Amino acid sequence: MTDLSKKPGEAPGTAPARPLSKRTTAVHAGVRRSQYGEVSEAIFLTQGFVYDTAEAAEARFQQAGPDEFIYARYGNPTVRMFEERIAALEGAEDAFATASGMAAVSGALMSMLKAGDHVVSSRALFGSCLYVLEEVLTRFGVEVTFVDGTDLDAWRAAIRPGTRAVFFESVSNPTLEVIDIAAVSELAHAAGALVLVDNVFATPIFSRAISQGADVVIYSATKHMDGQGRALGGVILGTREFVRKTVEPYMKHTGGSLSPFTAWMLLKGLETMDLRVRAQAASALALAEALSGHSALSRVIYPGLPGHPQHLLTLAQNGQGGTVLAIDTGSKEAAFETLNALQLWTISNNLGDAKSIVTHPATTTHQRLPDETKAALGITPGMIRLSVGLEAPEDLLADLRQALPPG
Ligand SMILES: *Cc1c(COP(=O)(O)O)cnc(C)c1O
Repeated sequence: MTDLSKKPGEAPGTAPARPLSKRTTAVHAGVRRSQYGEVSEAIFLTQGFVYDTAEAAEARFQQAGPDEFIYARYGNPTVRMFEERIAALEGAEDAFATASGMAAVSGALMSMLKAGDHVVSSRALFGSCLYVLEEVLTRFGVEVTFVDGTDLDAWRAAIRPGTRAVFFESVSNPTLEVIDIAAVSELAHAAGALVLVDNVFATPIFSRAISQGADVVIYSATKHMDGQGRALGGVILGTREFVRKTVEPYMKHTGGSLSPFTAWMLLKGLETMDLRVRAQAASALALAEALSGHSALSRVIYPGLPGHPQHLLTLAQNGQGGTVLAIDTGSKEAAFETLNALQLWTISNNLGDAKSIVTHPATTTHQRLPDETKAALGITPGMIRLSVGLEAPEDLLADLRQALPPG
């Protein structure tokens, strides 16, 4: 079982004979033990590293070995443990950890693009992702075409020879549209474009994005990896070549690296992530089923419900519907009344947390968008996003029932 980890003073372990499940990998992968043989991963809270001689410093700056570090902005043993564990979990060759999910999104895009490049992106994006694609990249001369991500013909029409990259959230926030990773990847690869997937809502537990065709997978670790609302973090996963030759030089010189303390917190978060995310997804399905048909709701959106437009794709791509659902109460007034009447659910804007969280996207996370854009994306005034936590689902349902108008 310790094949995935390093024992004191040993070289990194060899691959085990039988592939281990994600649940096991999330506990053991990437461990680097110091000479003390500690059980829990050590926090190397240091910016720098000492060289025995001037010659050793020169040699390390020329080519750092696998256990050699130079400066925490470039890498750190605790951060490296997190990178190796999440890479093993995602089935990626390598990973670069970042200070937040947005540092990962912007770092992945900025590190690989230059003026004159063309990018195709789905339109239904987290507000900050939309800002990076619409405002930042275009300012540096990158051309961005936005499409309806669920429409394969739209992708086909927008991707052209010379398109450098496609970008999308595999499950969109907050409307929970599901994009076909395999089909979009096939179109992108035929044109020579790289596929970058923001995979937050799929979670590393249910993701098979790389085997489905994604070249680069991006997570906000702030969400399910921490899972307890403590820290910001992110990660860019891909081939060793992409991560070390394209992403690392950009990230290490521009400064969006993850702190060792946060990396340690995220390592501990990964150990329980499988159990947490599965329990949260089971509760989300139970709530979606129980709320379907409630007379106070015009819609219950959950990719795990048979009525969702991409239900079959969801099952094929992720196996289940995830930890987030959305309901439509019909108006801003009804949504606010419901939010204010909830006693157990917390009004906030994180997701993937142990605590169940309700968000009114139209006035918070997506407030910046013009009304036409909100309407086009399906972010209605009555929409409430529900991030399902670790509480007992019957308590969560009872609280929703008492807060919604009688149905
Ligand atoms: C939260 C989120 C981000 C940004 O992550 P931060 O850690 O808050 O920077 C990016 N994409 C999606 C889909 C998200 O949900």
